[in-house]
Amino acid sequence: DTQLREVQALDAAHFLHPFTDHQALARRGARLITHAHGVHIWDARGQRIIDAMSGLWCVNVGYGRQALADAAYRQMMTLPYYNAFFQTTTEPAVRLAARLCELAPPVGGRAFTHVFFTSSGSEANDTNVRLVRRYWDLMGQPQRKIIISRRNAYHGSTVAAASLSGMAAMHAQGDLPIPGIVHIEQPHYWALRHEGETPADFGRRAARWLEDKILELGPERVAAFIGEPVQGAGGVIIPPETYWPEIQRIVERYGILFISDEVICAFGRLGHWFAYERFGTQPDLVTFAKGVTSGYVPLGGVLVNERIARVLIERGGEFNHGYTYSGHPVACAVALANLDILEAEALPQRVRDDTGPYLARRFAELTDHPLVGVAESCGFVAGLMLVRDKATLQPWPEAWEVGMICRAHCFDSGVVMRAVGDRMIIAPPLVMTRADIDAMIACIRTALDKTWAEVQQ
Ligand code: PLP
Repeated sequence: DTQLREVQALDAAHFLHPFTDHQALARRGARLITHAHGVHIWDARGQRIIDAMSGLWCVNVGYGRQALADAAYRQMMTLPYYNAFFQTTTEPAVRLAARLCELAPPVGGRAFTHVFFTSSGSEANDTNVRLVRRYWDLMGQPQRKIIISRRNAYHGSTVAAASLSGMAAMHAQGDLPIPGIVHIEQPHYWALRHEGETPADFGRRAARWLEDKILELGPERVAAFIGEPVQGAGGVIIPPETYWPEIQRIVERYGILFISDEVICAFGRLGHWFAYERFGTQPDLVTFAKGVTSGYVPLGGVLVNERIARVLIERGGEFNHGYTYSGHPVACAVALANLDILEAEALPQRVRDDTGPYLARRFAELTDHPLVGVAESCGFVAGLMLVRDKATLQPWPEAWEVGMICRAHCFDSGVVMRAVGDRMIIAPPLVMTRADIDAMIACIRTALDKTWAEVQQ
């Protein structure tokens, strides 16, 4: 206990946390997470908690994997670091690039042939901004600069990635977005549907906001569209099935590049190696991070389709862009071991055929709770909408912060859920079994009961 208090005091004195209100943090004291195994984390008071968020959507193979620690140790003892600048390379980076290209199915008959490595999703999306603009320069269309993103998207926190992100609270700090990045509305059926509109009709209408924006800007000025297959940090916004095919038609019609930001959705999270397989889209560039190493070490990157790669390589000369840790050998060695686990345990297939559908069924049962208006999932991401009135889906007053109340009860009831407004969301480790799902649903139900009791007072 004195150790906990000491760590909390040092935390308050010295640690500027990401995305944290420090006054609120100081009132409670930071919750100290001490160790983890499988789908569970433990806090300093010894409470065992089901980590239904996989950390920050990243611990796909679960905690405590010896094989990942061994891979890191072996690589550190052999070659802990060398760079990939100036015509040198390292074997783990090469093997990982080749393996990712092999795992990613071709789209429209074109393979993903190359990978640009970074340490994070943010850096990968900054790379995308420069890659697509460079592509159009090399294609003799330098006026194509604008990248279209969506409201409530999350593409990262570096300056370009935060600009691609569609979060008003982020843009309000630091004069964002940078020029040449614009946003359209998100495909959020529950927030934006017309009365009586079916999800299918809404999906097509929402996709056409992209077409409207392209026509408004002038197609000849648009470089690319970027989207998360399922918006994660925006609140697990699962688009209707009609949305992505219509987006695909539009990007093809106007010849603009399509970036699929799969930082959350790849590596089995939606039941496939890559999320574009789930929705049948044909991206030119795929952003990845998180699940590629299950979060054990930082690694991200961009998968580049041959259409783009060929232009960059054959016409390009030097691409003046890169990071000290692009292709970090330890990170790449851990990623290879992580892909081995995903493959050996068939985790993408398991999510697609077994545990994903089971989670969907168990999650949907929560709609019998008086607080829950909507419960929906896609593979191993899911969201609950907490409402004041189930029949009309009337929301709670924002100031009541019902989502935050529920989040606190979740933690105390033994499960980590994230609150985005009044949407309670999860993205569990892919190793979760049916029994783990049952235990998680029981904890969520307890938390919902406690929240319900509190908001009735
Ligand atoms: N893109 C998406 C879809 C994300 O969810 C995130 C992080 O949550 C990022 C990009 C940024 O990744 P990182 O935090 O590794 O920079």
